[in-house]
Amino acid sequence: AAEWDRFTADTPESGDHNRRASKSLPLGVTSSFQHWDPYPISIASARGAWLTDVDGRRLLDLSMGFGAMLVGHLNPTIVSYVEEALQSVGTLFVTPSPVSTEVAERFQRRFGLDMLRFTQSGTESLMYAVRAARAYTERKAIIKIEGGYHGGYDALQVSVKPALEDIGPAEAPIPDVPFDVEAGTVHVVPYNNLERLTEILHEHGREIAAVVMEPVIENLAIVVPDEGYLAGVRALCDEHGVLLIFDEVKTGLTAGYAGASQRLGVKPDLVTLAKSIGGGLPLAAFGGTEEVMQVVVDGRMAHFGTYNGNPLVMAAARAVDDICTHEALDAAETINVATLDAVDEIITEFELPAHTVALGVKGCITWSPTPVRNYRDYKATDFGVAELSWLWGVNRGILTPPGLDEQWLVSLAHKQDQMDVLVSDFRELAQALR
Ligand code: PLP
Repeated sequence: AAEWDRFTADTPESGDHNRRASKSLPLGVTSSFQHWDPYPISIASARGAWLTDVDGRRLLDLSMGFGAMLVGHLNPTIVSYVEEALQSVGTLFVTPSPVSTEVAERFQRRFGLDMLRFTQSGTESLMYAVRAARAYTERKAIIKIEGGYHGGYDALQVSVKPALEDIGPAEAPIPDVPFDVEAGTVHVVPYNNLERLTEILHEHGREIAAVVMEPVIENLAIVVPDEGYLAGVRALCDEHGVLLIFDEVKTGLTAGYAGASQRLGVKPDLVTLAKSIGGGLPLAAFGGTEEVMQVVVDGRMAHFGTYNGNPLVMAAARAVDDICTHEALDAAETINVATLDAVDEIITEFELPAHTVALGVKGCITWSPTPVRNYRDYKATDFGVAELSWLWGVNRGILTPPGLDEQWLVSLAHKQDQMDVLVSDFRELAQALR
């Protein structure tokens, strides 16, 4: 309660702004994920690793646009490429252009994709990837991971972080499958559980078009695959003629130069990309093998979009591809690893019921003493301390996203001394919790 009192005392302008915004925007925000009670902090501007809120406070940004701002706010290369497009290229043609072909060729090389198409958002990319899988397999049902989030498309609005108390132990039958959503049947399986996936594929394999999953779950903090799990999913999909769709909207470049699938060595049939590939502009994509993407070529499926591949976002994408070299990403990952090591030492020293998880330039503190292998394991989380830990940072000028959904991001603009502030803040919290 004292930390919430401090929050409201320090952020009166954000409170006023939320009251004003709530009269035009439901909840006073432009996406429901931006809301928290009693109100979220409103941001006036951002640069590099920093945000300035409407109360004039500077906050170290470790949310970085849910990971979209991998290159840092107002990255000079992004600004100059986009300015050049604005000055001398144009903003929208709705005809083919070498501008978009060049980015497609760069992404083809970087991500090892035969073919791809651009969209504006992760949601759209997931919708089209599922549609492509259905067109290719001539099957309707899909399988998704329990608790997982993949954007706002109807068919994937199933088992998105259901109440933890509604979910049984991992060995018991899953209570909430299948769902008949508007667009077809959706089966739900826990992550890191090949037995249940095997059962569902055995029973329903001939009706299932695709398994849709984040290769590493990043909408539940960070949950990494057990040794052999992704290879097992790949093999089961192949056995049943089911396509494997990796949703790399959140992992993508933050997981490594060519995303989580290349880092972990398992190739999906289709991949969805968004967030980090656009450098803060609305860019997303879906792509995969030539054989599957043929569905768009031969008309089994159409893919539309007025703004697809427009010159502004293409300029930003070119900049991202130039900026996100192996060296730049490795340097950010080194800072992330050092930060996690320092946090781990504090967890051990103070015997906190917590552990850290990392992937590439992202990291998180999970307030559970035991490893989390899937959504069900979050039952062991102390959500009260998790909230306090987040609010503690916000009140001391460090913005990480609230809740289970997110993790911190060490962008290319972050420096070790900034991350050291997170570490010393965490030490103070550990002392206060003693
Ligand atoms: N897939 C995953 C894994 C996501 O985290 C998100 C958004 O957070 C989406 C899809 C949807 O992307 P967008 O918000 O761009 O529609």
